[in-house]
Amino acid sequence: MTNNVINIAIDGPAGSGKSTVAKILANKMNLIYLDTGAMYRAIAYFFIKHGIQPNENEKINKKIDDINMEIKYLDHTQFVYINGVDVTGKIRTNEISMAASTISKNLVVRKKLVTIQREIAAKFNCVLDGRDIGSYVLPHANIKIYLTASPEIRAHRRNKELMESGASDNFETILKEIIIRDHQDMTREFAPLVRAEDAMLIDTSNLSIEEVVTKIEKLCAKL
Ligand code: C5P
Repeated sequence: MTNNVINIAIDGPAGSGKSTVAKILANKMNLIYLDTGAMYRAIAYFFIKHGIQPNENEKINKKIDDINMEIKYLDHTQFVYINGVDVTGKIRTNEISMAASTISKNLVVRKKLVTIQREIAAKFNCVLDGRDIGSYVLPHANIKIYLTASPEIRAHRRNKELMESGASDNFETILKEIIIRDHQDMTREFAPLVRAEDAMLIDTSNLSIEEVVTKIEKLCAKL
């Protein structure tokens, strides 16, 4: 149990429905929603912008202390700032998805972001989504959920999401990238994507968002 705050951890692979479900829960239960994937994306974006590739660990480790990341909220929406600059609108591309997965293997990067995540979780009632929240960041979270779905369904969801924001149909590429990203995230040495032993497993392949939310709400009713 964390001090007096409520922490709900939702983990799972890309496209499993984490962020949609977490946002709805946050609104219904009046919690802050912390999208931890956005933090890895923002770091990846920052380095690429500065000419450093996500696998150039030495260069990244040298520069990491120069980065000040701030998470801000406006109308229940999360914004990520790096050194005073809002990068939120720049981090949802396929390139940044892959780069975030690669940079998230870096121990120094993970430690920095996990520290910020734990600070926020210690202060606020919140729902956090990510890969390692229940297994590593907040092992004592009040509620732990692990969402999953088949790679094809997840790729279809991601493709639809990107097409709605103006991108062209790219299902095959997205499916390939999701499979690579799953593998990278599940096999990395430090804090890999894994279901915590005490996390409730929900396969969202054949469930509506509402059905998933209802299942989690039932668990939360015990809090
Ligand atoms: O969830 P999202 O797709 O935005 O995450 C982008 C990448 O960030 C993931 O593929 C994963 O490698 C990394 N990540 C992580 N730990 C988290 C959240 C995201 O390693 N808690």
